Amino acid sequence: MKDLKPNIDSLDPIEVASRDEIGAMQLQRMKKSLREAYENVPFYRKNFDDAGIHPGDLENLSDLANFPFTVKSDLRDNYPFGMFAVPREKIARLHASSGTTGKPTVVAYTKNDLDMWSDLMARSIRAAGGKPGNIAHVAYGYGLFTGGLGAHYGAERLGCTVVPVSGGMTERQVNLITDFKPEIICVTPSYMLAILDEFIRQGIDPRSCSLDVGVFGAEPWTNAMRHDIEQAFDMHAVDIYGMSEIIGPGVAAECVETKDGLHIWEDHFYPEVINPHTGELVEDGEKGELVFTSLTKEAFPIIRYRTRDLTRLLPGTARSMRRMEKITGRSDDMIILRGVNVFPTQIEEQLLRVDGLSPHYQIELSRAGRLDAMTVKVEVNNSSSSQAQRDALANELADNIKGMVGVSAAIDVGEPGAIDRSAGKAVRVVDNREKS
Ligand code: ADP
Repeated sequence: MKDLKPNIDSLDPIEVASRDEIGAMQLQRMKKSLREAYENVPFYRKNFDDAGIHPGDLENLSDLANFPFTVKSDLRDNYPFGMFAVPREKIARLHASSGTTGKPTVVAYTKNDLDMWSDLMARSIRAAGGKPGNIAHVAYGYGLFTGGLGAHYGAERLGCTVVPVSGGMTERQVNLITDFKPEIICVTPSYMLAILDEFIRQGIDPRSCSLDVGVFGAEPWTNAMRHDIEQAFDMHAVDIYGMSEIIGPGVAAECVETKDGLHIWEDHFYPEVINPHTGELVEDGEKGELVFTSLTKEAFPIIRYRTRDLTRLLPGTARSMRRMEKITGRSDDMIILRGVNVFPTQIEEQLLRVDGLSPHYQIELSRAGRLDAMTVKVEVNNSSSSQAQRDALANELADNIKGMVGVSAAIDVGEPGAIDRSAGKAVRVVDNREKS
């Protein structure tokens, strides 16, 4: 793999500023952001008034903990434009979440917001090792989803040649990578695995392709998956995090030189981690639910938004800004199986330890009588393997899961290609418990 560490002179000065400098900037920006939210969004005015708190009460960054949370249903209740702090004419772009579980969540950007987002995406791609003059293949979905356009404008801002492929048509993805020779790919890690399969199907050695770095996000993925993708493509695999309610991708990103968690771009987003049951702040280093407050957004300020993503805050390393550990999962993706909490990422870790199984998987939950049961559907690498070999692989995975995660799972070993591929975020859990 190439040494892609960016030159220190190419960084934004704030990325390596002192903590004091970052803190002073955050406090000044936080006061303004709270004030603007209060003055311009009836929801925040009421929420703060009901809690008996006023933006003027914030004297220190830690005072933020006295302000009320904002949750997803608040955004739904104010659908479509009720959370916006500027007149509609000042809004340059709208995006929305998928809305599979109800009305979509609509988010808005002024021209300045789009500029800030592009800057942060450029910063993120640079942290991943991207450089001006590189070709960036963007295979995140374009459209209302923030992934495609976020990566697109960020790569352009960095000075890359952007190939806006979007997700899907996997054969064409491989053709374009082979013909255009991009150094950078921006895509979900699960779709990168589908692209890997297609390289192999076409008889092309993925290690011979031009890619130097993948900027992978939009879904949880493990360090074990990082290792596998890096080996398969002889490229760096770097994590990027975001959510549309905060801005989109580019809220936090890993640095290629350390790959030790994601630096949160704290000059624009203030992170807190809370105990999801009590709402109390936890200390840095302790695991809990991530909460974000935007510091500079104009169209859609977001105050103490509960992301439901579980992680912990860690001190800065390659940059001064704090890191968040790779996300374990969303609290709503947590499976409670006979009293044990299980995240799909834990299953992924165990699966990737088994030679002979491919990294594609899906977890199916069912109810047998009064007991919940989990089946992990996986695939063999080699379609000519015997039934005895498949049984041995299933036993090995079941043992790994029992030993390391602490639950019993049935393993369903299918043919290569048996698991549905997604061109974006993978569906890791299918819950049939209500039906059975
Ligand atoms: P939705 O999936 O709700 O339509 P988004 O597309 O904005 O909305 O997705 C944001 C969510 O995607 C995050 O809250 C988080 O759960 C997940 N996500 C994004 N990036 C990562 C990442 N790098 N690691 C783990 N999860 C991520």
